[in-house]
Amino acid sequence: MSTTSTFAGSLTPTAEPRDGAGAAARIGRLRRNPTARRMLAETVLRAEQLILPLFVRDGRDVARPIASLPGHAQWSVDRLAPEVEEVGALGVPAVLLFGVPDEKDASGSGAWDARGAVPRAAAEVKARSPRTLVIADVCLCEYTSHGHCGVLDAADAVDGDATLPLLARAAVAYADAGVDVVAPSAMMDGQVAAIRRALDDAGHRDVGILSYSSKFASAFYGPFREAVASAPSFGDRAGHQLPVTNAREAVREALRDEAEGADMLMVKPAGAYLDVIHRVRRRSALPLAAYQVSGEYAMLKAAAERGWLDERRAALESLVAIRRAGADLVITYYAKDAARWLREGAR
Ligand SMILES: [Zn+2]
Repeated sequence: MSTTSTFAGSLTPTAEPRDGAGAAARIGRLRRNPTARRMLAETVLRAEQLILPLFVRDGRDVARPIASLPGHAQWSVDRLAPEVEEVGALGVPAVLLFGVPDEKDASGSGAWDARGAVPRAAAEVKARSPRTLVIADVCLCEYTSHGHCGVLDAADAVDGDATLPLLARAAVAYADAGVDVVAPSAMMDGQVAAIRRALDDAGHRDVGILSYSSKFASAFYGPFREAVASAPSFGDRAGHQLPVTNAREAVREALRDEAEGADMLMVKPAGAYLDVIHRVRRRSALPLAAYQVSGEYAMLKAAAERGWLDERRAALESLVAIRRAGADLVITYYAKDAARWLREGAR
């Protein structure tokens, strides 16, 4: 008999399962009782673990729905209050701000404009809902005329080293406006260290850094790029974001950002990268967030709209799976819905 068939044979039950009998135990016994099922849940999803992305834009009296992200809109800061108050009332503890400027330029100077949408929105959130944790995305791609995450060199390639001081400048502008945490998303080598140094020098020692440490060059960002109009006008981000094939490299990025002083790490996207969440979780003791990105949300939404999926069950299952893989926090467009569903389920 070959080794293979011996191994396979050892997994084949040769008799009826007997009570409490090791490999033949009736593992499902406890599942039959709903109380036991709840008591034995290995993974818990709470509203306190969710972060809602918010798109804030220049202008006045604007609430522009984003077609590919149903339920989400670009808000001018003067229209933000009801959204912020709802987030607080639902028990979602944190928002992640993205800016949508009216004007862009080659260096993305709107990113550090103290009168830009993100600094003004940060102040507005703090005024309306003081306990809400305000996180601000730090990148240049929403602000550059070419749509890349940094400034370009003579060959039209992203110049990481020249971009670092600009990212640091944006982070300090957001800290000046009152954000609790900055979230650098440009995937530039050295960005966490540069931002940490700039924050400390500006007296913002208590402002934390949530690094988008392991961000893949993913097709699942499609709807987001409509949301902030940040698609690159040429080329792509494969030169600085992670190849979708590489999990070890994603762990290296996470460990490097930890060494540079990140307070929290992130894996993005989440659903197709649960193995990466798990690997980073095992290698780092830092809090870990995962970003359920726009394409993940859009897929669930579209299927639910057609009646092909039970939206509530599928969305909560996707969030639990991200937690089970090892994420402490989930950034998700479902944050408000999930908080509502979890509250209804607890009644
Ligand atoms: Zn970017």
